[in-house]
Amino acid sequence: MADQVEPVPEDWDLALAIVAHPDDMEYGAASAVARWTGQGKAVSYLLVTRGEAGIVSLEPSVAAGVREREQRASCAMVGVEDVEFLDHPDGLVEGGTALRRDLAAAIRRRRPDVLLSINHHDTWGGPSWNHVDHRVVGRAVLDAARDAGNPWIFPDAGEAWNGVRFVALSSSPQADHGVDIGEHLDVGIASLRCHETYLANLAGNTTDPTAFLAESAHRDGPRLGVDAATTFELVFV
Ligand SMILES: [Zn+2]
Repeated sequence: MADQVEPVPEDWDLALAIVAHPDDMEYGAASAVARWTGQGKAVSYLLVTRGEAGIVSLEPSVAAGVREREQRASCAMVGVEDVEFLDHPDGLVEGGTALRRDLAAAIRRRRPDVLLSINHHDTWGGPSWNHVDHRVVGRAVLDAARDAGNPWIFPDAGEAWNGVRFVALSSSPQADHGVDIGEHLDVGIASLRCHETYLANLAGNTTDPTAFLAESAHRDGPRLGVDAATTFELVFV
């Protein structure tokens, strides 16, 4: 992990965030999204699953609707209105051409300058194993960014779009860029709190969104030379 980080470039208009689950964007990236929508940029979200297997006490058929509602409320909090759900199965997302095709089609429909996702590495930087859906979806986002630009790959999935400048991956142990979220940490925390049912069913230190997000923002701030930051690994495809 690089000690100091560079600011994430902000000379773009449209970002598409592609993540596996409701709440994935809210563990760090949402504060940056609030900053960007505040600057007049547009950010769209594509959720690969509905997170239906994420609440132990709730049957997946019920949890899917709850989590979709909580995600939409969370998005509204940070200025995001365009939210789409694919119906890949939570916990069982399969990498491969079907997923890449779905993602490439979404990228071609929206024509974003930037893609956002979360850590796709095996771990979070310590001994904690990353979720299989994060690993699979993150890698598929990187591949689909390239697929989307090639008219000969998935030719029936929309007109090719090769305008993606970079993919920014949140919560990466190899973060090399950061965003000053001093003014947006509060709204980022509020957006995580929108996942009310999900959080109520979690154990451990992540149940207090204020503590978790504030600690990591103030830990990463000095790496960017500011009070509070959220970090990203930038990948160019
Ligand atoms: Zn997740």
